[in-house]
Amino acid sequence: MYYKSQVRSKRRRSQAVHFILSPGAGRCRLSKVGAGRRPPPARVRVAVRLRPFVDGTAGPSDPPCVRGMDSCSLEIANWRNHQETLKYQFDAFYGERSTQQDIYAGSVQPILRHLLEGQNASVLAYGPTGAGKTHTMLGSPEQPGVIPRALMDLLQLTREEGAEGRPWALSVTMSYLEIYQEKVLDLLDPASGDLVIREDCRGNILIPGLTQKPITSFADFERHFLPASRNRTVGATRLNQRSSRSHAVLLVKVDQRERLAPFRQREGKLYLIDLAGSEDNRRTGNKGLRLKESGAINTSLFVLGKVVDALNQGLPRVPYRDSKLTRLLQDSLGGSAHSILIANIAPERCFYLDTVSALNFAARSKEVINRPFTNESLQLHVLAPVKLSQKELLGPSEVKRARAPEEEEIGSPEPTAAPASASQKLSPLQKLSSMDPAMLERLLNLDRLLGSQGSQGAPLLSTPRRERMVLMKTVEEKDLEIERLKMKQKELEAKVLAQEVADPKEKENCSPTMLRPLSHRTVTVAKPLKKAVVMPLQLIQEQAASPNTEIHILKNKGRKRKLESPDASEPEVRAEDCWELQISPELLAHGRQKILDLLNEGSARDLRSLQRIGPKKAQLIVGWRELHGPFSQVEDLELVEGITGKQMESFLKANILGLAAGQRCGPS
Ligand code: ADP
Ligand code: MG
Repeated sequence: MYYKSQVRSKRRRSQAVHFILSPGAGRCRLSKVGAGRRPPPARVRVAVRLRPFVDGTAGPSDPPCVRGMDSCSLEIANWRNHQETLKYQFDAFYGERSTQQDIYAGSVQPILRHLLEGQNASVLAYGPTGAGKTHTMLGSPEQPGVIPRALMDLLQLTREEGAEGRPWALSVTMSYLEIYQEKVLDLLDPASGDLVIREDCRGNILIPGLTQKPITSFADFERHFLPASRNRTVGATRLNQRSSRSHAVLLVKVDQRERLAPFRQREGKLYLIDLAGSEDNRRTGNKGLRLKESGAINTSLFVLGKVVDALNQGLPRVPYRDSKLTRLLQDSLGGSAHSILIANIAPERCFYLDTVSALNFAARSKEVINRPFTNESLQLHVLAPVKLSQKELLGPSEVKRARAPEEEEIGSPEPTAAPASASQKLSPLQKLSSMDPAMLERLLNLDRLLGSQGSQGAPLLSTPRRERMVLMKTVEEKDLEIERLKMKQKELEAKVLAQEVADPKEKENCSPTMLRPLSHRTVTVAKPLKKAVVMPLQLIQEQAASPNTEIHILKNKGRKRKLESPDASEPEVRAEDCWELQISPELLAHGRQKILDLLNEGSARDLRSLQRIGPKKAQLIVGWRELHGPFSQVEDLELVEGITGKQMESFLKANILGLAAGQRCGPS
């Protein structure tokens, strides 16, 4: 619960300090390099591509309604006044003779380098159906488009930059999805159903449960991409041009890990999007399913227009959430990406109105300002050895003060003052938190000093000081909370003990393998009772340590049995069908471990096999795991947004028994 509220409050604060603590992962995320400063703006760049006349459309006798003027501008006939033309200027204009290489080299290739800086980039192909979006993005084997070219270059770049001996190790993954009728469908795993789009604490958009395939070569990419594209094509034949009704999104992630201190980690995302046709369906006369599809498409493209307008007008609310497409593009439009919109237009007169509206949309889009930033995190556990190396720089007393308690315990021959607390096992952040703030300040000063003297070694603590201090503060807060929880746990234990003291008889009667319920054991209910008791974690662990455990699952206490009561005057109570749960703690601990393993390693589909976990919750869990790292205990489920404490308890009760029983009945 604590983490949840902490994460939430951090989310609110993240605007100001640009930093978030990921408790599960035990690492600090420094979302915006140079926190405190606003990242420099980068306008959405807009290119227009005019396709040539193609077979089956009008020929040279039917003159085009659009004409290029130079490499940035074009004109189109004004339907209101035939004597005039409407003129538009963009970042680039590619005429009917332009090649795939022209578009790629001129507008797409330059933004790829940002991915290696840990920044996001996106390329969107916009325009009416038949204007050349898919040709531009995908192309053909003879004329490959933006997607194969970008992948080829990106993989080459990452191979070079990530080679042995270079400072960063790089890896690339791909995901491929389509948004069809406001459903997000995983093209690499079509059976997975509609996926949810979520936003992490730094405003990054992510889709929990979306398949991510690692790719190291272009052959790898083709191996995943081609069958996935066929998944789309199958739909196209069945649903009559479904491909032009859906938005296809290829997501390529570049992950970088620094090989030397300070061991930073960066992630850059590239979206390559072939949007659905922007034609006005009132004119195309769509009916039935086509009309429904068009409605959905028009909704998302209509919202896309509203988002662009809201951004241009600086409105306080930008309606990203009003459609799946805009939600997905949230960090590409007015967000953190270097974005390029390629508006595809056709020369034929029959396209005239759609061409004008595509050009108007493109003109509005070029006013949108993004603020790309470097997506960087620090893995704090790798700072521990750096911290130890400070001993050489400090006096012995200072070293002692700076040491974490667990180091004292291991390293000192003197009797230790206090054993390491259990909370220290919870997170590697503890090591930093146990450092005296004054000491940390000194280390930072030393770090700066070494940096200014041009030290040969890597900076000791290269994170900006302000961020580090904020991190320290957060860790302190976390410690306090852990202490509070420990106190609470002690109180509960004391309560259980007090009950045992008050009722020693019951304690004697208790078999060592029997679970001791939290409340009084005497059953005084009149109606039949089926009772399953889940022990607090600590009791289970204590009992699990006992070597004389036996396995019992359920024991029927029999009908019409007189129940034990500390109060002899209490009337005899019938407790028909009174089942009492008796499970060896060992078995329960196994059950817990199995749940924990599933939570940490299971796919969304695996998680759905658990009781009380539907597809939505399974995705929420996978999403939380992707954001915060593995769950350290099953109770952490409560931290998942959308899962309440009560739901977590009932989930535990429902599953721990099932898995414990499964443990007994068959091999695990
Ligand atoms: P969209 O995806 O916008 O519906 P397509 O990319 O499928 O449009 O293009 C429609 C047709 O026009 C296809 O047959 C395609 O090969 C052709 N085409 C599009 N752009 C060009 C171009 N620049 N040069 C040659 N043919 C093109
Ligand atoms: Mg298409």
